[in-house]
Amino acid sequence: MDQLEEIKSKIDIVQFISEFLPLKKAGRNFKAICPFHNEKTPSFMVSPERQIWHCFGCNRGGDIFGFLMEMERMEFGEALRVLAKRAGVELQSYRPTQAETEKEKLYEINHLASEFFHYLLLNHKIGKRALDYILQRGISKESLEKFRIGYSPPMWDGLQKFLVGKKGYKAEELEKAGLIIASSRQQQTDSGRPLTVGRYYDRFRDRLMFSLFDHRGNTVGFAGRLLDPNAKEAKYVNTPETLVYHKSELLYPLQITKEEIKKENKAIVVEGELDAISSYQVGIRNVVAIKGSALTEAQSRLLKRFTENLVLSLDSDAAGDMAARRGIEIADNLGLNIKVVVLEKYKDPDEAAQKEPNYLKERIAQAENIYDFYINSAFKRFGGRTAEEKKKIGQELVPILAKIEDEIVKDVYTKKLADRLGVNEESIILQIEKIKNKTFLVAKPPEKTVFLSSRRDLLEEYYLALIFQTKEVRDLLEEEERSLFHSPVNLKLIEALADYLKQEKKFSSQFFFKTLPAELREAFDKLYLVDFDNKIEDKDWVKKEREKAKKQLLTIKIKEELQTISREMKEEKDEETLKRLSEKIKILTQRLREVESAEK
Ligand SMILES: [Zn+2]
Repeated sequence: MDQLEEIKSKIDIVQFISEFLPLKKAGRNFKAICPFHNEKTPSFMVSPERQIWHCFGCNRGGDIFGFLMEMERMEFGEALRVLAKRAGVELQSYRPTQAETEKEKLYEINHLASEFFHYLLLNHKIGKRALDYILQRGISKESLEKFRIGYSPPMWDGLQKFLVGKKGYKAEELEKAGLIIASSRQQQTDSGRPLTVGRYYDRFRDRLMFSLFDHRGNTVGFAGRLLDPNAKEAKYVNTPETLVYHKSELLYPLQITKEEIKKENKAIVVEGELDAISSYQVGIRNVVAIKGSALTEAQSRLLKRFTENLVLSLDSDAAGDMAARRGIEIADNLGLNIKVVVLEKYKDPDEAAQKEPNYLKERIAQAENIYDFYINSAFKRFGGRTAEEKKKIGQELVPILAKIEDEIVKDVYTKKLADRLGVNEESIILQIEKIKNKTFLVAKPPEKTVFLSSRRDLLEEYYLALIFQTKEVRDLLEEEERSLFHSPVNLKLIEALADYLKQEKKFSSQFFFKTLPAELREAFDKLYLVDFDNKIEDKDWVKKEREKAKKQLLTIKIKEELQTISREMKEEKDEETLKRLSEKIKILTQRLREVESAEK
């Protein structure tokens, strides 16, 4: 498709990707910590020349389309439309994939449902009781609009009448959106109330409805909250996992607060929808709710695109919660800086924002470092006076300290803990060592995918990368250079280059790429991603590096020839041939000596 090329030519990949992650210049390329796998040193490379990206850690790679699809979990068609719009290219013919059509439909259905609920809350008498309740709960009318809060009527088919009856959607489609439930399953779940509405019933009935959006603003699902706090049913009912709703990825309401988070370079992380809305109302606008007390990896990664600083303001009893701690560990491992707010006077940020906004703001400003928080929280819960209490505190905190990677930070908190327990620092260090030894016994899986290529393949790649990145490609036409290569892919690439240079005077990686068969394209692109940093601009360095690599390749080549010949000699009986072979060995050994002793 030509339009694909047109879009690509109008969007610079470096500029585009740097809107998602900080790219650092590395010679002719750019690099970053990979957003798609866990790592501490960058192996995510972007080549402006080839307009591609590749991660040497997880082996993902591609062009702007691939990047956007991976980053935003988009289908190809969605990415195509987003990028076409950005490039100002009008798409002529595009047939969406089935998955894409399905997703679009779910967005549409959820959007209409959201408007339906919202209308009932604000404008219909059926929503009057809910409206009174939420206003009295301290949520302003403006917020109801801004966050598109709604009300689901106390009916088994209220939403169906609207979406199926009036809007013409199929019940199956509503079911896929998680809005209605097939009644056969209801026998087990419903408490004996007879069902009169046919095959499906509405999932959300008589609830305050919080519309859930993804960070791009698509309506993906709902959280329905009971009005009556004394009712027997679950306080919250949520959309189940669907094609577009993934609970573990959702941050509420990121589509509204993401700009503020970027601007403040900090996100205040709370638990529930009402915590977020109440905080927002009193001016804490860089807020998101994680729907629970544990940050997930997907949420951490998403947040990291907007800021590296998180302030967790969770419910006051979430402190000892293992799930919460696990979430903090995940975020910590992703390199996020985490602080914790302790609200002593109120049970959650919602209540604090309603009753004493300034107190909430103060506490946020004075958020504790995560390790101070852990120590304080353990002492609060266990006391720490008797030996037994001290042991409990140690059992909780030592594993946490053992995981701190920064030795200075670890040292600081080891001292702090020793002080507060009134014990010798050595005893804590000993405990930490014990834990470490234990965890070492459980072998960790390797962080990176191991490259299977042999040393020779890697060297060949390195050598070719030096040549292609400096555009000295004509050198490869010489037999002496060509004879260094052994890998079929590289040999084919050189052959293709020779053909190309017969017709073209000037080498252009763009045009050359287009002449390549599919199986060579990836190998070719990878050559542009090898990281030489600024040194690639230094002609002397390149020259020396090429000589070094050439020498190594030559050495490997001769050694392999020697091995082959000695294998042949073992099988050979004929005197004449043996003589000839041993002569060859002499020459090769001599040659090897020459190569190895050559000027460095
Ligand atoms: Zn990666």
